[in-house]
Amino acid sequence: MPGRLEDKVAVVTGASRGIGRATALALAKQGAHVVITARAEDELNTLAREIGELRREALVVAADASREDDVERLFCDAHDKFGQVDILVNNAGVGKFGALASISPEEYDWMMNTNMRATFLCTRAFLPKMLVRQEGWIVFVGSVAGLKGLPHETVYCATKHAQYGFATALDHECRDRNVKVSYIAPGGVNTYFAFGTGRTPDDPTLNEFLDSEDVAEAVVFAVTQPPKSRVFLIGMRPMREAL
Ligand code: NAP
Repeated sequence: MPGRLEDKVAVVTGASRGIGRATALALAKQGAHVVITARAEDELNTLAREIGELRREALVVAADASREDDVERLFCDAHDKFGQVDILVNNAGVGKFGALASISPEEYDWMMNTNMRATFLCTRAFLPKMLVRQEGWIVFVGSVAGLKGLPHETVYCATKHAQYGFATALDHECRDRNVKVSYIAPGGVNTYFAFGTGRTPDDPTLNEFLDSEDVAEAVVFAVTQPPKSRVFLIGMRPMREAL
């Protein structure tokens, strides 16, 4: 039986592990071909083999999503290979948790550049052709930290609020040209996120977090809506987390 995304082409940033990796696989299981990008090329090659086993094509582009020249190369390689891109998943992200005074200006730049600048560069690159074709999906893997302030997450919250503002403003530019914008806002997800910068792998509460696959299913839900419907915001929380 054909998947719900048969022969669509998706670009997933931050695909080397965690939510991005699970999202690339979930989209491929629905029939999409996937451009997988991050900096860790070995992990991307392993993922490409898994996508190949699903009889879908994967293009590996090792790139830093916060660098303009890397994103231009990502855009060119994706179009050389597939001719068009239907879905962009802005997922690459980093975080350091701690009291404000413990966050250096360099760490501020690292978080803002990876979370917001990369989102800006990738969306700016891939959106124009979607608008011309009058079809496309721009998905943001944001966070509950983009919807409210959380203790010890000042700068991370700022980057995720920035993505949320960007997404809501972008929706105005896209809606009448049939490009759908979705912001996924998960609570805690059990990934490598913030290991060494606020979380530790041996934290037992990680097991009670959402799994990457839960968020990947939300991305699939967002990009498989009927023509008249768009899902702008999906809030997700593990059962252990209050709203
Ligand atoms: P993760 O397991 O640490 O994965 C992060 C991904 O981002 C990796 O593939 C990493 O790849 C990529 N990345 C980091 N810097 C990059 C850069 N400069 N250029 C390109 N790729 C880069 O974390 P995750 O939990 O899957 O996070 C994915 C997204 O979910 C993030 O936007 C995060 O804010 C959001 N989120 C996470 C949680 C959570 O609790 N885990 C909750 C809500 C939202 P390379 O290192 O190979 O480049």
